Amino acid sequence: MKLVVQMKLLPTPEQAAALHATLRTCNALANRISGQAYEKKMFSRAGLQKLVYAELKAAGLSAQPALHVIRKTADAYTTLRSQIAAGLLGGENSKRRRKAESKPVAFRLDAAQPFDDRCLSWQMDAGTVSIWTVHGRMQRIAFTGRPSQLKVLAEHRKGESDLVHRDGMWFLYATCEVDAAPLNTDPVDWIGVDRGIVNLATTCDGANYQGRDLSRYRRAQARRRAELQRKKAAGSRSAARRLTRRKAREGRHAANINHKIAKQIVADAQRTGRGIALEELSGIRGRVRLRRHQRVTLSTWPFHQLGTYIAYKAERAGVPVLQVDPAYTSQRCPRCGHVARGNRPDRDHFCCRRCGLAGPADHIAAVNVRQRARTAWAFVSMPDPTPVQGKGDATAARQPAALGSATRCGRPSRKPGRPRPRS
Ligand SMILES: [Zn+2]
Repeated sequence: MKLVVQMKLLPTPEQAAALHATLRTCNALANRISGQAYEKKMFSRAGLQKLVYAELKAAGLSAQPALHVIRKTADAYTTLRSQIAAGLLGGENSKRRRKAESKPVAFRLDAAQPFDDRCLSWQMDAGTVSIWTVHGRMQRIAFTGRPSQLKVLAEHRKGESDLVHRDGMWFLYATCEVDAAPLNTDPVDWIGVDRGIVNLATTCDGANYQGRDLSRYRRAQARRRAELQRKKAAGSRSAARRLTRRKAREGRHAANINHKIAKQIVADAQRTGRGIALEELSGIRGRVRLRRHQRVTLSTWPFHQLGTYIAYKAERAGVPVLQVDPAYTSQRCPRCGHVARGNRPDRDHFCCRRCGLAGPADHIAAVNVRQRARTAWAFVSMPDPTPVQGKGDATAARQPAALGSATRCGRPSRKPGRPRPRS
């Protein structure tokens, strides 16, 4: 499976100037080709290559960088087309879509640029790279990274790296191809994970990840953001720039926390021979009742990203992941099965109205997630399944492909009209 590791470059001023010039040249040329592609309605890589390769060479790019610039441009149009096809830019008459279609795709002058092994080589022992630039080949640019990432880089690097300029720093994002551990097809049990607002993740073991400190941080960030937005609305361009930077920084902060949570949960699962069960996330916004100050926090927390990180780290570790139906996991009693809104007197507490079972609400929800995974798994690993009438969902769950993909279990679907997957 593919992983991307991030290495920080430590260029001398002369090397940095060459890197700057390289990104600027490549992106300016990409913009020029993008214009030609748009004008001639020629978006395929091969077609563009015929059209502009000689021109790029004449402009000072060597062969590989020229091909990369062409590919980057063609890929950008492919992405745009698929975004339009998926309806991400709205319908045919939406303003956003018309705007996107009315002009060529544009690249920022410091947008990332890919380099392959012919334009970029790594000297792992010396901790340097040599890289093609428009000022000639730059030798011995020092790089550094976290020890775990350096190890992955040394052992598994394969393919291209992207040169990225961000916040005044230079990075290489190197692609690595690592072997995933063999999948544990016989997990002894499941770790149920509940994702929430105050506790970003709670497991059925009772482990809590990140609580109130982070909420405070995010509220403070939201306040500062609101202030910048006011200034931006008043026409301040520097506020607009600072806003963009702040959003990017918050995004990295969130990604970092999600990485840590995912790593811990996957490590626990691997060590104990268990799989991981997550709630399907569709509709978390509709499901959770919020206090006013939580709204901004929730609408910006990347819950989906946490799920993605858990999924890929689990794949690498050979840990199976199941997604279960989230309906009523917060209101259901795991001991007697009683479902009632009243089981949840407030956001933090669970107390069953029928049998009296009480506990922290997030923990109870995680236990419910585990139970659903156990039920689903009983279907998945049934030795010789006989078709069950009216349980199309369970039939789908028996397919091995259901691992890591949507699996409904527990109660029958709430919407009988919904199309059911066929086995
Ligand atoms: Zn109960």
